[in-house]
Amino acid sequence: MSKERFEELRGQLDEVNLELLEVLNKRATLVEEIGKLKSGKGTERFDPIREKEMLDKLVAANQGPFSNDTVRHLFKQIFQASLVLQEEEKKQLLISRKAKAQDTVVEIGPLKVGGGEPVLIGGPCSVETVDQMERTAAHIRSEGVLFLRGGAYKPRTSPYDFQGLGVEGLKILSETAKRHGMVCVSEIVRPEDVEMACEYIDVVQIGARNMQNFELLKAAGEVRKPILLKRGLSATIEELLYAAEYIASRGNTQIILCERGIRTYEKATRNTLDISAVPILKQESHLPVVVDVSHSTGRKDIMLPIAKAALAVGADGLIIETHCEPSVALSDAKQQLDLPQFSKLLSDLRASGYVKEAIGTK
Ligand code: PEP
Ligand code: MN
Repeated sequence: MSKERFEELRGQLDEVNLELLEVLNKRATLVEEIGKLKSGKGTERFDPIREKEMLDKLVAANQGPFSNDTVRHLFKQIFQASLVLQEEEKKQLLISRKAKAQDTVVEIGPLKVGGGEPVLIGGPCSVETVDQMERTAAHIRSEGVLFLRGGAYKPRTSPYDFQGLGVEGLKILSETAKRHGMVCVSEIVRPEDVEMACEYIDVVQIGARNMQNFELLKAAGEVRKPILLKRGLSATIEELLYAAEYIASRGNTQIILCERGIRTYEKATRNTLDISAVPILKQESHLPVVVDVSHSTGRKDIMLPIAKAALAVGADGLIIETHCEPSVALSDAKQQLDLPQFSKLLSDLRASGYVKEAIGTK
């Protein structure tokens, strides 16, 4: 064969490749359209009967030189790629990185959560008294912390344990935060309370036990206050993301995700902190991610290395339970730091360079 003929054939092959590519992408566009119609009807994407029909038609039309087996094999690959395409499209959630590449920055007063310096959220497990909140808030504020927490509706394992002060607790938390120029977060457990709570608090927390309380998620999606969404005790990362999507799908995209440890067989810590969830969540979603170092570990003695680890893997903030007198706390007495312990943790974090002077305001 002459060199010219060889080059000519190669040139034709290149052209056919491009034609094939065009036809394959044309097919992919059709598949995407069908996928959209299917998702509207809730129909399964993989349809084995339809796939068999298509393969049979192709084999019947095959005139070679490819064998029927090869035709089946090639087209099966194309069908598989189409399914992947439909799956990828399904995963285009509002909260996903694919939908929005830039980090979401949740602005709460002077604070920015996400895309910058990490924030610290301090304060007790439960709001108990005006005095307890005042002493705790005054101390952590003097350390530069601007974000105050405190539970008013406590989802307790036992119905005989302290259940929280309810709306009275929200008022105490809110007034304390205002007095100190802080913002505040508190857990809400009933959908009908979300709107009311927004009058008092700056961020609505949805706790681990309620991560899949879909009515609560929908109610959180209807308001225009930031939501702190904690990962469920046994929830997968995907389930947490879908829970966030419930909120975003109702128009509220001001969501902070929280890794707070999951249930495993390990008993050395209260929960097992899933540290890998932090970079995965940040890869999959544009939402900020904070780590609750108190509920994940349940232990004060490892809080510093755990806090460092969380910040090292990219957490946008930490939740640290702090109480002016942990020994008499009405909930989670064991894990709450007292005020000197809080200061020590903060100065160690500052010394390590993980936390700056002005926390989360840049
Ligand atoms: C809390 O933050 O007060 C709390 C109860 O945490 P979790 O929902 O993560 O258990
Ligand atoms: Mn607690």
